[in-house]
Amino acid sequence: MSDVRQHADDIHEQFSDHLDVDVEDVEERLTTLVDEYKVPMDEARRSVTNHYLEEAGLEREDISSGDSEAATIEDVDEPEEWIDLTAKVIELWDPRSDSVAQVGLLGDPTGTIKFTKWAKSDLPALEEGGVYELRNVVTDEYQGRYSVKLNSTTVIEELDEELEVGNDTSEIEGALVDMQSGSGLIKRCPEEDCTRVLQNGRCNEHGEGEGEFDLRIKAVVDDGIDAHEVIFDKDATEDLTGLSLEEAKDMAMDALDTTVVADEIRADIVGTYYRIEGPTFGRYVLADDVEELDGPADPEELLIKARSM
Ligand SMILES: [Zn+2]
Repeated sequence: MSDVRQHADDIHEQFSDHLDVDVEDVEERLTTLVDEYKVPMDEARRSVTNHYLEEAGLEREDISSGDSEAATIEDVDEPEEWIDLTAKVIELWDPRSDSVAQVGLLGDPTGTIKFTKWAKSDLPALEEGGVYELRNVVTDEYQGRYSVKLNSTTVIEELDEELEVGNDTSEIEGALVDMQSGSGLIKRCPEEDCTRVLQNGRCNEHGEGEGEFDLRIKAVVDDGIDAHEVIFDKDATEDLTGLSLEEAKDMAMDALDTTVVADEIRADIVGTYYRIEGPTFGRYVLADDVEELDGPADPEELLIKARSM
């Protein structure tokens, strides 16, 4: 799809509820301004948008993509708001759909939020660790969790500055009900600044490699109301299980199999109650402070909470 057509589509979509207008008509107006009058695209968009606003008797804020407002991540508490964020890309995840170009976690001093960048938006790639000004992103909500979508109207500008990322601390009390794959004795990419977990001996970014052993647990903790995904890093895993990285490597070596470590850890922790405190990163809680409990601290209270949901 051509650039002009994409912009025409965006404008057309904004007016689809208000006007009976063809996308070809929008495209023609844009083309005339851009090609014949050499008007820059953003100015052409404004001009064409104003034309249709007038025709429909609407104000700018009546259409979906009005002027976006500068916001911080903690401000996001409504879906379908158009905002500008200055944020750092903390993590990129693997998109599960062809319609998604990139998905991951953004952070700013006030917190973290998931982002999705549509494939058809044709935006430049964001890099892990990069700090960006993201203008005209739209908020979304799914099951009480907020995210932002980068779309074809979004403008991305990479900033040459550091941004401190704040986090929200969570405290969870509940049963560790499951341990996910990718737990136990794992191997990480040895490339500098990479640390991705190797899948079948391969790093997504750097290909085949030797890898460095590490210990990690990805667990699901159920507090009676919600299931939380909790990550234990090496130190937290050693504390939790009493198994050191060296011992884990010896175990795997003896068995010629790394999965024995995960099996041993699973048997040790699944079904146990914990109080876990730590920062939240998107959907994960990082276990900083862990205390083992005898059982549900106050089953009565949990039950009352569960009933009131
Ligand atoms: Zn790597």
